[in-house]
Amino acid sequence: MPDTQQAHAQLGTLSYVSPTPESPWGTYLAQVDRVLPYMGELARWSGTLRRPKRVLIVDVPIQLDSGEIAHFEGYRVQHSLSRGPGKGGVRYHPDVTLEEVMALSAWMTVKNAAVNLPFGGAKGGIRLDPKTLSMHELERVTRRYTSEIGIIIGPQRDIPAPDVNTNAQIMAWMMDTYSANVGATSTGVVTGKPVSLGGSLGRVKATGRGVFVTGREAMRRLKIPMEGARVAIQGFGNVGANAAELFVQAGAKIVAVQDHGGGLYNGHGLDAVALAAHVAQHGSVAGFPGGEVLGTEEFWTVETDVIIPAALEGQLTLARAERLRAKLVLEAANGPTTPAADDALAARGITVLPDVVCNSGGVIVSYFEWVQDFSSFFWSEEEINLRLDKIITGALNHIWATCDKYNFSLRTGAFVVACERILQARNERGLYP
Ligand code: NAD
Repeated sequence: MPDTQQAHAQLGTLSYVSPTPESPWGTYLAQVDRVLPYMGELARWSGTLRRPKRVLIVDVPIQLDSGEIAHFEGYRVQHSLSRGPGKGGVRYHPDVTLEEVMALSAWMTVKNAAVNLPFGGAKGGIRLDPKTLSMHELERVTRRYTSEIGIIIGPQRDIPAPDVNTNAQIMAWMMDTYSANVGATSTGVVTGKPVSLGGSLGRVKATGRGVFVTGREAMRRLKIPMEGARVAIQGFGNVGANAAELFVQAGAKIVAVQDHGGGLYNGHGLDAVALAAHVAQHGSVAGFPGGEVLGTEEFWTVETDVIIPAALEGQLTLARAERLRAKLVLEAANGPTTPAADDALAARGITVLPDVVCNSGGVIVSYFEWVQDFSSFFWSEEEINLRLDKIITGALNHIWATCDKYNFSLRTGAFVVACERILQARNERGLYP
């Protein structure tokens, strides 16, 4: 490693996490290391990228329906507030860790800057399995968590949103709890709310729509015809299912899907709408009658034009990248590709559209929601979808042009564009005192 990079790497040493090259924070640090040589004088601020600005760990105690007291570990990490308030989702999952939330918050900083939204980056999470809690317990845990992180969130400070296993109802409870604590209705404290409470039309489908729009643009550039294109999707939740529907509407076919319950294959194309209805009823794609059962590893070897990891991070490993038979990877999930897999895909000529652009549709419409809440003036769904298309396509075109000019991968190009904006803002703000 060159001396300058080593010096930068040392700046990132934190006592409270122990990242590995494949772990989420380790993956993020490796991505930052790749772009620092292109930051020129701004690289002196690189410590701001390698350290979260603020890390809050909270105990979330609740009374269970049985009368017992349970404690859950909750986090809110504000990675950067240089370009605006923190912005990022809240995840409920039994495997959530501080390190994971840190990486997700950092990717939010990069994502918001890559598409030029006036936000920093943040993320939250609670280590719990929502499937083991009743609706009342879920409400109590959400309200207590919101109260605990209430000291750092707010419409001008940090604005949470839904992520894995959280939804509009959970955002409504968060908004209500925050509002009760501050003594005023504060719709702009969270996004992804129900439309009746200041939510935005088009928000629920926005991330899947963004994946489709960026995929459509990438396919056009790579000369992959949409009509009849074979698409495989890992994760058939909010993002995966909505992206699937739009790809099918545009003429592509979903040949393979996989979720936590199993995998399916159908060379003629799965019925995405019927499959979404099956998932809504049964909780998984498993058992859907319209396809053959597909093994966990087999999923990654299906011949496709486009593959969309839309589940969790770290799924596209080196071993899977070496066997992948696709032309284009659309990173709908956050951090789905490990750095070693990224290199292997680049060497094999497989284009990877990075998460920070590909799945930015959700935060773009969250931004619209926040703006609409401030002005108390709401836009039509058509207007929202048009503005989303314009922002995300413009951001992708700018990043693609940067890559063509400097011969970067799309990820490096997106990080260069984003990190330059973040460090520029930090540089212009200067240090206090
Ligand atoms: P979701 O909870 O609606 O769906 C998650 C999906 O992943 C489910 O189909 C689940 O079965 C599947 N899954 C979980 N573990 C799996 C495993 N081990 N193997 C295979 N599949 C597995 O979540 P979502 O909102 O669709 O989010 C999916 C991804 O997109 C996450 O990485 C999230 O951070 C990212 N993302 C979401 C949004 C948003 O607006 N919802 C925005 C940006 C990024």
